[in-house]
Amino acid sequence: SKPIVAIVGRPNVGKSTLFNRIVGSRIAIVEDMPGVTRDRLYQDAEWQGREFTLVDTGGLDFAEDVITEQIRKQAELAIREADAIIFLVDAREGLTIIDEEVAKQLRLADKPVLLVANKVEQFDASKIPFYDFYQLGLGDPVPVSASEGLNTGDLLDELVKLL
Ligand code: GDP
Ligand code: MG
Repeated sequence: SKPIVAIVGRPNVGKSTLFNRIVGSRIAIVEDMPGVTRDRLYQDAEWQGREFTLVDTGGLDFAEDVITEQIRKQAELAIREADAIIFLVDAREGLTIIDEEVAKQLRLADKPVLLVANKVEQFDASKIPFYDFYQLGLGDPVPVSASEGLNTGDLLDELVKLL
C-alpha cells in the first residue's frame, strides 16, 4: 500500500493550503482564524511516479489557549500512523514554543521528517528566520509559499526521497 505522509504543525501555518496545493484541488478548508476542529483529511497524491497518501491533520487546529495538550495528542496520532512527516512552520511568525513542542515529539518518533517553512513569498534569505528553525534539530527548512505555489516542487522532490 501507499506510504502515508502527514502534514503536522501548529494552527494557521498553512497546512490545509499546502495539502490543497499538493493534491491539486481545494478539498481542505483554509481558515484565516485558528480554532476550528476538523477531522483529518486523506487524499492520494503522486510526484515523479511516486504515490503516497497525504494527510491534513486538521485536528491540530485548536484554539491557542487549549492547545498544548491537544496538539500533543493529535500530533502523536498523526506521527504514529505516518510513514513520513511534513513539519510545517511559519517563516513570517518565526519559531514558537508550540513548534518546539512538536519538534520534540518528532525527534522522539524516529520517522523521516521534512521541515518546511511556509509563507515565503520573497526568497531573501536575510528575512527568513532559517537559523531559528535550524535549531529545531530537524535539518535545514525547505522554504515554500503554499498559497502561491512557490518552491513546492522542491519540497516534493525532497519528500519522495524520504519514502
Ligand atoms: P492551517 O491552520 O495550518 O491549516 O492553515 P491554513 O491553510 O488554514 O492557512 C492559514 C492562513 O494562512 C490562511 O489565511 C491562508 O490563506 C494563509 N496562508 C497559507 N499559506 C500561505 C502562504 O504561503 N503565504 C501566505 N502569505 N499566507 C498563507
Ligand atoms: Mg487546516
